[in-house]
Amino acid sequence: MNGLSEQLLKTSQKLAELGLNKGTSGNCSVRSQDGFLVTPSGMSVEDMTPASMVQMRFDGSFELQVESNAKKPSSEWRFHRDILRPNTFSSRPEINAVIHTHSMFATTQACLHKDIPPFHYMIAVVGGDTIRCASYALFGSQALSDNALSALQDRKACLLANHGMIALGRDLEDALAVTVEVENLCEQYWRILQVNPNPPLLSEAEMREVFLQFKGYGKWAK
Ligand code: 13P
Ligand code: ZN
Repeated sequence: MNGLSEQLLKTSQKLAELGLNKGTSGNCSVRSQDGFLVTPSGMSVEDMTPASMVQMRFDGSFELQVESNAKKPSSEWRFHRDILRPNTFSSRPEINAVIHTHSMFATTQACLHKDIPPFHYMIAVVGGDTIRCASYALFGSQALSDNALSALQDRKACLLANHGMIALGRDLEDALAVTVEVENLCEQYWRILQVNPNPPLLSEAEMREVFLQFKGYGKWAK
């Protein structure tokens, strides 16, 4: 197993440590030389080792490593594959890592079918002025992947109705930072809505200014 499997394990452990994924909820993936590595299906983080990670090809095939404790790939391999697959109309060459969580506040908003509007300037971390909520589809289905891809257009994150969220990054560290920030924004928005169901929002011009200000600013530069 190469360093990418270790990085994928570390990311899964970090997601559990931060309380962003519990039990067997959520999954993550990273682009590898001939396809992508994805976390195994239905395995809790405590049971995962680097050898549990499943190497998949972009045609959806994979080899079960009978020697290791690897299982089947995540049931959500379709959206991981579709986001990372090169040379498609929706391909994202700048994206090399995908994280999916059922974290508390993102999922709360997703169950309300709410797009998150520009109530805070940090919405810019997703690369646009809203976090879209993808229409509901069955977990593990191609329909879920199709809905997610359209909600992710020009964005580094989206919510999944009645399910959770997806965050993208140029590497696993970046995707984890986006995940943490999206969860934070969803919690802030939830708290604000308790007090005011119509909070003041930033205008398009104000958000344009935020994007300009972020240019060259640390990891959020677009
Ligand atoms: P997996 O264990 O198959 O990755 O499924 C978890 C999940 O979050 C499904 O949406
Ligand atoms: Zn899920």
